[in-house]
Amino acid sequence: MVCLLAHLVATPHTVMSLGKVARSLVKPARGVLRSSASALNRSYAAVAEARAVLESELDGIRAAGTWKAERIITSKQGPHINVDGSRSSILNFCANNYLGLSSHPEVVQAGIDALKSYGAGLSSVRFICGTQDLHKNLEQKLAEFHEREDCILYASCFDANAGLFEVLLGPDDAVLSDELNHASIIDGIRLCRAKRLRYKHMDLSDLENKLKESQSSRMRLVVTDGVFSMDGDVAPLTGICDLAEQYGAMVFIDECHATGFLGPRGRGTDELLGVMDRVHIVNSTLGKALGGAAGGYTVGPKPLIDLLRQRSRPYLFSNSLPPPVVGCATRAVELLLASNEISQSMTAKTMRFRNKMTQAGFTIAGSAHPICPVMLGDARLASLMADDMLKLGVYVIGFSFPVVPKGKARIRVQISAAHTNEDIDHCVDAFIQTGRKHGVVS
Ligand code: PLP
Repeated sequence: MVCLLAHLVATPHTVMSLGKVARSLVKPARGVLRSSASALNRSYAAVAEARAVLESELDGIRAAGTWKAERIITSKQGPHINVDGSRSSILNFCANNYLGLSSHPEVVQAGIDALKSYGAGLSSVRFICGTQDLHKNLEQKLAEFHEREDCILYASCFDANAGLFEVLLGPDDAVLSDELNHASIIDGIRLCRAKRLRYKHMDLSDLENKLKESQSSRMRLVVTDGVFSMDGDVAPLTGICDLAEQYGAMVFIDECHATGFLGPRGRGTDELLGVMDRVHIVNSTLGKALGGAAGGYTVGPKPLIDLLRQRSRPYLFSNSLPPPVVGCATRAVELLLASNEISQSMTAKTMRFRNKMTQAGFTIAGSAHPICPVMLGDARLASLMADDMLKLGVYVIGFSFPVVPKGKARIRVQISAAHTNEDIDHCVDAFIQTGRKHGVVS
């Protein structure tokens, strides 16, 4: 439908001329011709109306200062990138490339090897003829990494979140979800028929109220991001697990911003907080710390993974992950299973950035996470400051409504193990210069 609309919007004249061609070929009776011409006119009017509605939506976004422009990168992902229209090397502080593995030579080589041995893609979903030993091997490694029974791969974590809840939970069940959970969790929960209860962000007493309220449900699942991507704050998993155990509920976490680097061995928020054996289901991404290509997955109890393979719609009805993508992710997981050195270097650089920025007078949300949101409040200010930072050679992005609540605009800085201390200091200096220009710091 969207494609059709796009086509019609782009080529209304083509529609009319196609109508003329059809008429000249078929030569229908006069009455028929008149009615088909008026049907085309009605369709043209509908498209014109849709176009006006869309233009006014777009104008509204521009007027609110929340327009998200896309900058064009002309190099590979890394701490130093080339951006179209800017001077040659730009310092990049806005990728989820936490461990710097997106362009790691061994990760890239593994992708090349997989491409050569296994081809570009499968031209199939997994259950028809789209499962290679490569996929099974990665699933097994991810289950091992998270210390869970089994794993299922998806094309993205968005898909993993979209495909989980409707399979696990039915109308007799309840899902209790943090109000600031990621959009893909919200969408996934919308698809399921369980009773939905939203608790206040990281508020254990509100969660307890909702657990009491849902006592009569058959199964209950508490759902939270392990780390919330906009603030870099860590979910209170110990308290959540205590409550879940007290009230007989299961716990799910989305670990997109934790897998690979949080916790002593980088296993995630559950390891950081010592609750790996008390969290039942984990969804995460291959598109951030684990090589950054694409893909997502669920790890958890084997019967759940088995059922997802049978019923989860984004898994059943979407193409298998391409072999080069699987090859890259597998190498990334192998590197992390072998050593946690990369993640330790990222933590040290995170603390350097946070301390220097705080000393300079900026407010940085969160505590120790490599997501370092520089809080500014005003959407336009965030966008203007991000543009000025680029002029100083530092690529950061302003986030505003609807990605974050109104009045809480910020520039989200993300630290990578691949940054050097000099990169961090350069970024802080650019913030101080830009912040002074806009009256944010003195
Ligand atoms: N969950 C969270 C918390 C995320 O931040 C993201 C990505 O932005 C996703 C899910 C979706 O991950 P993917 O990019 O693999 O679809």
